[in-house]
Amino acid sequence: MLRVQAVPAFTDNYIWLIHGSRNKSVAIVDPGDHEPVLRALERDGLQPAAVLITHRHGDHVGGIRGLRARYPDLPVFGPARESIPDRSRALQEGDVVELVELGLRFTVWDVPGHTAGHIAYLGHGALFCGDTLFAAGCGRVFDGTLADLYRSLARIAALPADILFYCAHEYTLDNLGFARWVEPDNPAIEARLALTHQALDEGRPTACGPLSEELATNPFLRVSVPSVMRAAQAKAGHRLDGPAEVFAVLRTWKDTEYD
Ligand SMILES: [Zn+2]
Repeated sequence: MLRVQAVPAFTDNYIWLIHGSRNKSVAIVDPGDHEPVLRALERDGLQPAAVLITHRHGDHVGGIRGLRARYPDLPVFGPARESIPDRSRALQEGDVVELVELGLRFTVWDVPGHTAGHIAYLGHGALFCGDTLFAAGCGRVFDGTLADLYRSLARIAALPADILFYCAHEYTLDNLGFARWVEPDNPAIEARLALTHQALDEGRPTACGPLSEELATNPFLRVSVPSVMRAAQAKAGHRLDGPAEVFAVLRTWKDTEYD
């Protein structure tokens, strides 16, 4: 199984370090800030082999230049359809990132919605999904569309349920509060709330976990479940025509009334 280390940054970001299978090499996912990454590399004697970027937002790319000031040859992989500082390889759907130093390879998915050119990295039973899927929630729509984000999440939801996803923010508690608005009678949400409180009290990140947990608790992946459809229809005040419309109502509901 993949070994992945969380480096907290800013107030609620995680920069993920993917460890190689045979040495001290790591790939750095979405370094919004270089300083906590440099500290972690030095403390643990790690050698950075690559930077993997999911999308162009500053809290995901802001540390690239600082890392390359220290490691000038560090390659930066990032989405082809977005402007990424110092990008050395532009990636799109179906591309394969071969991380030779780590003995790992990832397949690139286009997952537009949060931003129009957002990508994710899939491999070794893990998905690095940036700001597309969050634990118990999903990203806001910036320059993508609701329809894009719905399709991207539907595609993620169809992955094997034991896939471990790694998202970029510690939003779980807030997201579960909204999930409880949508599904007040879902016991899995209550159980997850208790576990999330416990994990945060112990200083453990809750922004990673198996997809199965999302399928049981995340309203944005449950848009075909009758209780979620009923809640969205009650909110909209009219009948909704299918899961994409349910998704759009939920995302707008959370944006306008919950956050
Ligand atoms: Zn973002």
